[in-house]
Amino acid sequence: MKAPAFDYAKPAHLAEAFALLARYGDEAKLLAGGQSLLAALNLRLSEPSLLIDLSCIDALRGITLVGSKLRIGALTTHTAIESSPLVAQHAPLLTLAAPHIAHRAIRNLGTIGGSIAYADPAAEWPTCALALDAAIVVASASGERRVAAADFFQGLYQTDLQPGEIVSAVEVPVRAPHQWCQFSELARRHGDYAIVGLAAVAVRQANTLTQARLVLLGVGAVPLRAHAAEQLIEGKALSPARVDQAVDALRDSITPVADLTSSAETKRHLAGVLLKRILSPVVSGV
Ligand SMILES: Cc1cc2nc3c(=O)[nH]c(=O)nc-3n(C[C@H](O)[C@H](O)[C@H](O)COP(=O)(O)OP(=O)(O)OC[C@H]3O[C@@H](n4cnc5c(N)ncnc54)[C@H](O)[C@@H]3O)c2cc1C
Repeated sequence: MKAPAFDYAKPAHLAEAFALLARYGDEAKLLAGGQSLLAALNLRLSEPSLLIDLSCIDALRGITLVGSKLRIGALTTHTAIESSPLVAQHAPLLTLAAPHIAHRAIRNLGTIGGSIAYADPAAEWPTCALALDAAIVVASASGERRVAAADFFQGLYQTDLQPGEIVSAVEVPVRAPHQWCQFSELARRHGDYAIVGLAAVAVRQANTLTQARLVLLGVGAVPLRAHAAEQLIEGKALSPARVDQAVDALRDSITPVADLTSSAETKRHLAGVLLKRILSPVVSGV
């Protein structure tokens, strides 16, 4: 299918984009990398009368260190994050997760702001944002506000974004001393959306993890904290038996939603596989 007819605007400044959003309301759609939106237009899942192309707005670009936060502009592509030395140094979880997003051609165009705003339950960036306790920076004609990732993702493809607002950046706390992080996921083929994924961040001393944040993707409508498993591993020297207990607790605590290819039981099983996979190196001191 082909997309329906629409008008097209390419503002150079945020103020122009806000004015267009105010004028067109629900009839306007923001365009970033187009890697999700263009497919939705072609399938006629969305029929806006105006596309507002954000790609010329410099205020949405760049990766910068601002005090104790790494600010990643909304237009930063998945590839730019994957290859950024600043990200590798200060938010290595993102470096680990990026190669799991789609294929190179899509990573070259797709943006972190688009991914966060789209809020696909199987997407990597929302999951990493929650694991890292990141803030989503939202801009509008009346200024900027910051929303904790835990509050931003509200339901299936639903976020806290209000009419007239644009995701302008994601702010990630810089890596704490002894921060340990891991990312793993299982997909049918490389480049497919994951069946289940797991992002993990903690403070590591030898084989003990504290302040653990384990976040699953592909299991519910939004990224899901695995609180029961977090509590079981918190501050304890990890042994194979302790890991098995955490895996059981994780599986007992989730109610996965089946998708087109995988049942709820498959997802429950795979979530446990991923937890064991990322914790085992900590047990063995690797
Ligand atoms: C074959 C294929 C496989 C994929 N696999 C994966 C995968 O494994 N993991 C994954 O995470 N993603 C995957 N994607 C999606 C890809 O990562 C997209 O880049 C991402 O979902 C959206 O980013 P975008 O910049 O392309 O946004 P667009 O497609 O331009 O926009 C997506 C939505 O976000 C809105 N939007 C965009 N930018 C902003 C902003 N700054 N503020 C407010 N709203 C905004 C748009 O209006 C639209 O509703 C895949 C896509 C394809 C085509």
